[in-house]
Amino acid sequence: MKEPIILAIDTSCDDTSVAVTEGLRVLANIVSSQDELHKKWGGVVPDIARHAHADRIDSVIAEAFARAGRYKHGISWDDVDAIAVTYGPGLAIALEVGIKTAQKLAEEHKKPLIAVNHMEGHLLSALAANAAGKAPVSISEGDFPVMGLLISGGHTDLVLVHSFGRYELIGEKLDDAVGEAYDKIARMLGFGYPGGRVLTEMAKQGDPTAFDLPRPLYKDERLAFSFSGLKTSVFYTLKELQKEQGELTKKQIVDMAASFEFAAIRHLQDKLAQALELHPVKTILLGGGVAASPKVRAGLRKTAREYGAEVFFPFGKKLYVDNAAMIGVAASFKYQRGETVKEIPDRVPRLTVAE
Ligand code: ZN
Repeated sequence: MKEPIILAIDTSCDDTSVAVTEGLRVLANIVSSQDELHKKWGGVVPDIARHAHADRIDSVIAEAFARAGRYKHGISWDDVDAIAVTYGPGLAIALEVGIKTAQKLAEEHKKPLIAVNHMEGHLLSALAANAAGKAPVSISEGDFPVMGLLISGGHTDLVLVHSFGRYELIGEKLDDAVGEAYDKIARMLGFGYPGGRVLTEMAKQGDPTAFDLPRPLYKDERLAFSFSGLKTSVFYTLKELQKEQGELTKKQIVDMAASFEFAAIRHLQDKLAQALELHPVKTILLGGGVAASPKVRAGLRKTAREYGAEVFFPFGKKLYVDNAAMIGVAASFKYQRGETVKEIPDRVPRLTVAE
């Protein structure tokens, strides 16, 4: 079967992204980041995000076409088989910009629409192939079930993939998502916003055993994630130090960054191990912004190997953060299954549903 060429759009949070994919191959994946706009507010401001999406979306679409055209000797609407768009979960007024644009374009160019769950995009992001067709992993019928671990600013999910489109959520967060915890600790340490990436950098200089932080839900039979206890523990440790000595030293700051990262990764490892004991799969798909940290990937890979499993993650940096190429990849499977829609449903989907 011919691989479908899909124009994909994601405006789920604060990045405006448009991609062109051909089957699992990424021909273009443009991400226009709004970090600079939200920085001074210390978080994503929904209204600013919506305006920025609306201002940028047309030029990002044009850029995606131009980039994809380099591989295809020019690409036009005639070549596009479908338009895919993220319909949730995410920031409602931000999502709306992408959904409205997709609907308008579908009507204008008479193309079918595909509604994609943002988390399904992250889940399948390791399957994305570069323009030459090379992917970190490919999955065929006999490989199921496989497991997905999604670690980002909004999610910490363990998913059992029974087949493409049949997902079972087996573990999720009880409070903060792991990426959220990274950002909050980063703020406590004075790294600004969004500080998670800075924290990962600073942690390299620190001693991960300097502070003894708690091990959340250890030996707890729930397959769940919790970062609020860790966060509180860091908060009070820092407060205590400040009371004793005033300003923290540079060494204490990097030591805390390293100790927190160590504790966060250990928690992810504990729960991955528990999941693998319950569901002994061979393949684990890793996705989400936190997976961009080499230390996180190395830790999870080590745990997986102890259970005879292998962890796979996306081939490029942009595929970890919010991006439209992962939406195009997920849409490509939906296209092959004939799952196109006339209208984008407004019920925000949960990434579950098996049967
Ligand atoms: Zn995301």
